Amino acid sequence: MRRRRRIVLVLLDVAAVPSLLLCLAAASLSAASYRRTDVLVWTSYVADHFGKVQLSVISRRGHLKVERLEMCSFYGTGIQAPSFEWNTLRGVTESHAGDAPRSQGSSTRLSVAGFDFVRDGIYTDPDNYYRTVSLGVPLPVVAVLAGVLPAAALRRWCGRRRRRVRAEIGLCPACGYDLRATPGRCPECGRILP
Ligand SMILES: [Zn+2]
Repeated sequence: MRRRRRIVLVLLDVAAVPSLLLCLAAASLSAASYRRTDVLVWTSYVADHFGKVQLSVISRRGHLKVERLEMCSFYGTGIQAPSFEWNTLRGVTESHAGDAPRSQGSSTRLSVAGFDFVRDGIYTDPDNYYRTVSLGVPLPVVAVLAGVLPAAALRRWCGRRRRRVRAEIGLCPACGYDLRATPGRCPECGRILP
């Protein structure tokens, strides 16, 4: 049981490293997203229709949205090479060209604690449609959640260090009572010492 607990603690310490990086990335992106809007867009064109598929990642006002847009139109631009764009817009926009116009028809919207899932679309016929699926996450919430593991790891590390220092100078590792007069057992907390 002790051994299993040790393995779990080591795994938690290892997981704390990427979690800390995620925490810092989410926090800094969140701070930046109140000054500017970043839009990453990857576009590919559908060969047999005048259609295209766009994958975009948008950070704006503390929110990160990943969206897949699929559209097809008679008035499309035809087939082009796939493209990748990264635009940074100064200031914070309310909306941008990659956002879907909202349909009056069927759409799905789920929103919990700033996390949201939206499926939306306009469909008229097989050659004329517009569909989007997006997932949005609140960056400050992501930063706080990702900060839990590193904070707990830091707390464990401080505890281990405190117990080691206490043992080195002859204090009880558990409660800090001076054990120089009573080595072997702490009279304060009852801890048996090796
Ligand atoms: Zn003690």
